[in-house]
Amino acid sequence: MISERQIFLQHVAQTSATPLLLDIERAEGIYLYDKQGNKLIDLIAGISVSNLGHCNPAIIEAMNTQAKKYAHVMVNGEYIQSPQVQLAKKISDLLPSSLNNIYYTTSGSEATEGAMKLAKRYTGRTQIISFKSSYHGSTQGSLSIMGDEYFKQSFRPLLPDTLQLNYGNFEDLNFITQKTAAIFIEPVQAEAGVNFIGEEYLNAVRDRCNKTGTLLVLDEIQTGFGRTGSLFAFEQLNFIPDIMLIGKAFGAGLPLAAFISSKEIMSSLSNNPVLGHINTFGGNAICCAASLAGLNVLLNSNYIQAVKAKEKIFRSHLIHSNIKSVKSLGLLIAVEFEDEAFCQRAIRKCIEKGIITDWFLFAANCLRIAPPLIITEEEIIMSCKMIIESIEEISK
Ligand code: PMP
Repeated sequence: MISERQIFLQHVAQTSATPLLLDIERAEGIYLYDKQGNKLIDLIAGISVSNLGHCNPAIIEAMNTQAKKYAHVMVNGEYIQSPQVQLAKKISDLLPSSLNNIYYTTSGSEATEGAMKLAKRYTGRTQIISFKSSYHGSTQGSLSIMGDEYFKQSFRPLLPDTLQLNYGNFEDLNFITQKTAAIFIEPVQAEAGVNFIGEEYLNAVRDRCNKTGTLLVLDEIQTGFGRTGSLFAFEQLNFIPDIMLIGKAFGAGLPLAAFISSKEIMSSLSNNPVLGHINTFGGNAICCAASLAGLNVLLNSNYIQAVKAKEKIFRSHLIHSNIKSVKSLGLLIAVEFEDEAFCQRAIRKCIEKGIITDWFLFAANCLRIAPPLIITEEEIIMSCKMIIESIEEISK
């Protein structure tokens, strides 16, 4: 009989030559259980998605309740669907008043695409600026503003009139002009191996946008929903974007993302042309119900408040002569090694020991730690011990 592994390799598309091939049976809390009976610590939360861990009962209940009513009734933005409405109200109440209108999408990349279109339509300008080593998605529009040549070069021609500045370079901000529709920026560049630029720079970007009438698009897809120690990272940075992107943990495990702006800016998508952005599944009722339930769990707990203390515990236990540095913003952590090959070996060794980490797209020498926020102090210490043991073993 042909095994599921063979079917997977034959019939499910892979985009790497060496897929990890973990065979997951179920997941609960911070643990994944494979079909061979192994219990694995999920230290990456499906890449910053499962902030509340796996199979949270409140989220499951909300999904079940909504599934019995309806899953899908109409494309985005036409019918009044209670799960969408309740979630939009909740998110708007949590954000500054200018971020009060939400366009639901199914992926972060689509949120980026929508925001690019919105900025072009609203400003009547064409240029989109972003930063080197930035990641905003993998579709052709979002790829056009990605800050990495290696991942872009085989897919040209991409969108014209895009430009990537050096992240953190104040002089480069002069490239933002009255021709620039939008600048896309992450509060911390995750895929660059947790590269945090700080408040002063983000405020300089804000000032330059104010001077030139450029929309500031903040990508909180990876940083949102508590990961950095506040609900959104920008709350720690003393500025307000014109458009914000959310995704990943937003759906509490289901596919949901969004671009958020003011009612005034967003309204430009309803004329010339009408239906300025269209999708079928954005704001799917079950996804929105799960998202709202997850948000309530997050807000009614102290998980976000505990993030910084948990970050400190990680940092104080991730010490080894082969660790060059540990970069972090909350529970988004990069453990830097000398080179990529060592990092890959560390990741594989960790999996052998029962702990799942990963690498970063533009920093392959860094090991990614982005656990569910529900991880306990004991679990952090145990995880660090396993990581250090792995490093020790491959250092011999
Ligand atoms: N922006 C950032 C900062 C991301 O980390 C990601 C996903 N890694 C995206 C956008 C794209 O999201 P998705 O994979 O859901 O399209």
